[in-house]
Amino acid sequence: MKITIIGTGYVGLVSGACFADFGNNVLCLDVNARKVEMLKDGRIPIHEPGLDELVRRNAAAGRLSFTTSYDDAVEHAEVIFLAVGTPPDEDGSADLTHILAAARSIGERLTRPVVVVDKSTVPVGTADSVRKAISDELDRRGADISFAVVSNPEFLKEGAAIEDFMRPDRIVVGSDDEQATKLMRQLYAPFSRNHDKMIEMDVRSAELTKYAANAMLATRISFMNELANLAEVLDADIEAVRLGIGSDPRIGPHFLYSGMGYGGSCFPKDVKALLKTSKDHGCTLHLLSAIETVNETQKGVLFEKIVRHFGGRDELAGKTIALWGLSFKPNTDDMREAPSLVLIRQLLQAGCRVQAYDPVAHAEARRILESSSPESLSSGQLAIVASSTEAIDNADALVLVTEWKEFRAPDFGLLAKTLRSKAIFDGRNQYDPAIVREAGLRYYGIGRRNPWRD
Ligand code: NAD
Repeated sequence: MKITIIGTGYVGLVSGACFADFGNNVLCLDVNARKVEMLKDGRIPIHEPGLDELVRRNAAAGRLSFTTSYDDAVEHAEVIFLAVGTPPDEDGSADLTHILAAARSIGERLTRPVVVVDKSTVPVGTADSVRKAISDELDRRGADISFAVVSNPEFLKEGAAIEDFMRPDRIVVGSDDEQATKLMRQLYAPFSRNHDKMIEMDVRSAELTKYAANAMLATRISFMNELANLAEVLDADIEAVRLGIGSDPRIGPHFLYSGMGYGGSCFPKDVKALLKTSKDHGCTLHLLSAIETVNETQKGVLFEKIVRHFGGRDELAGKTIALWGLSFKPNTDDMREAPSLVLIRQLLQAGCRVQAYDPVAHAEARRILESSSPESLSSGQLAIVASSTEAIDNADALVLVTEWKEFRAPDFGLLAKTLRSKAIFDGRNQYDPAIVREAGLRYYGIGRRNPWRD
């Protein structure tokens, strides 16, 4: 099938490469000419395990190419996927500027029937707006061309995006057009080999399904974070509680990890957008609003522990804190809404020196911090260093922020010798408190038993 993908970010590039790998002829378009140049040169602008090889293989086979030309992209396609960003607007709603700009660009050029598939996460009713944007352009040109707009939200996880796309749990398709549904069925048949994974529904329900999924996952995280804070007060251990409840099949083991609060490019913005949608329609989502509040509070919990360890905020000035991990989760360079950014800001404001290391997200982190904290970087109060060892050099304490594999089994003996105040703040509950303590270190986790009284 001849497919055009509009937007070559985490979703667009992965979708394009995976569709090409199943033998489709895919043309990916982006308005960012620098990205397209890189892709044409075989360089991948984002970090996603396995993506380099997949893109290179399919580009070499002539099934995957890249352009900045809407003329070529619209001319190419039987199916056009919209995979552009939908960042939060100032009022929390999803900003549809990119989606509607792409829709208009399609309408300006369409010469034959096409199915337009919305893969970006968009509020209920957006398919209608996309349809109208295309129709308006067609009307303006006096062109009478049939087209359908389908909703096909994406559920891939950054860091495991290719596996998720290639072996999806489900493929949600919202469509009011029988021919378009048939085409989607054909397109996704190779991804549903052992059983039918396609769940068909109306367009609006498909649009809501994506928000409902992310809101549910955010709910589980905030629930566990709140419970972790209670566990600490009660001198119970949230990790034991997690295992105790996760073994119940009605609850299940996934997304029950307490930590520094959820971040990333999806949960924060999607929770906000759903809250805005509900407000706009006069429907109050009490639970969802609490989930966001809990998350905001949780981002400050580790800083409070650091303050307590050093005996008060005033004692923090001049201390050097090592950070392991900056990306919002492992296996990605995505820094959008990363909890590390909140912690760095708090530490810098308290007068700490911060030495941070991330195996992959260092360049992206530097780019972001150069605009948010340029003076801290230039004065050396904040340093993004090249290794985990460099991060702990001359440090008073270590904070594990992102649970990259290389941080799983550190030499605690070495840490005990190196860290001046002999303290580890484990923002992801990765370490066994007993082993850390045996090495002569103070251990602070999230919701672990009595961490600051040992
Ligand atoms: P991204 O920011 O990584 O990529 C978006 C791309 O779209 C950028 O390269 C940008 O240059 C391009 N773009 C913007 N306007 C354009 C236009 N008019 N024409 C062509 N290209 C344009 O975004 P992403 O993380 O891939 O997310 C895309 C959508 O998918 C969002 O709605 C997001 O919520 C959703 N989503 C993301 C994930 C994820 O894990 N990242 C998972 C599921 C769904």
